[in-house]
Amino acid sequence: LGAPAVEALQPDDVRALLPRPGHVAHKYTRGVVGVRAGSGTYPGAALLAVAGAACGLAGMVRYVGPEAIADRVRAAHPEVVGAGRVQAWVVGPGGGDDAGGMLTAARADDVPVVVDADALRHVTGPVPGCVLTPHAGELAAMLGVERAEVEAGPLAFARDAARRWNCVVLLKGHHTLVADPHGRVRVTTTGVPWLATAGAGDVLAGLVGALLAAGLEPYDAASVGSWIHGAAATEAAGGGPLTASRVAVQIPRLVRETLTGL
Ligand code: AMP
Ligand code: MG
Repeated sequence: LGAPAVEALQPDDVRALLPRPGHVAHKYTRGVVGVRAGSGTYPGAALLAVAGAACGLAGMVRYVGPEAIADRVRAAHPEVVGAGRVQAWVVGPGGGDDAGGMLTAARADDVPVVVDADALRHVTGPVPGCVLTPHAGELAAMLGVERAEVEAGPLAFARDAARRWNCVVLLKGHHTLVADPHGRVRVTTTGVPWLATAGAGDVLAGLVGALLAAGLEPYDAASVGSWIHGAAATEAAGGGPLTASRVAVQIPRLVRETLTGL
């Protein structure tokens, strides 16, 4: 018996899975996503993760981090608020030496956590309910293997990592794979090579966090998030180059087009 087939989400699948507010929704029922990201060396990663989280799919975004960065976050995104209860956390982008503390603080709440970038190095055991978002180099470092090994067999590595850490693993790359601990895998091919640009992964982490906060299961949040992220990038690129900020700005339009079937 082989491993189960790899599935690719279609626009109708994404449409069915995307959260949409009911008539009696309020911002708290739509979900609150918290972001712990950024450091003196990488303040921009915090802004980009917040930009992905502030795509409108959750009801509120909180940012928790150094005051100098929080000032910049509020200047760029006036709708973002400070510490408080959340339904999902995003931790790690640009976290540097603070990333371990970010992960510990987020895990103290009983909510799903998107673990990205520097925080991935601090995953030492099972993290059920979480979504890990490594690229091949980060997954290789977590496993103590060479990046080229992961690149040569990403499907097996993504599946094994999901089993090992008992969580959803979103392995980023040319094609992005989302694996769950039961062996299920979805592949995302909506992206474009122009997306290989600094900060793109930070936007994705924020977006997946918003979908978790909105109530999607981790496997759906990761695969829908990666589908939307890739499609938004392709649309924003329009055949030319791209910045991570422009991917984030494109997300609401892409969601609208997906929901309305245009
Ligand atoms: P990060 O490495 O964290 O900055 O994330 C990079 C983002 O760019 C991820 O969403 C990747 O899936 C995407 N990406 C990287 N290389 C390619 C490629 N060749 N084609 C399409 N998407 C890519
Ligand atoms: Mg990254």
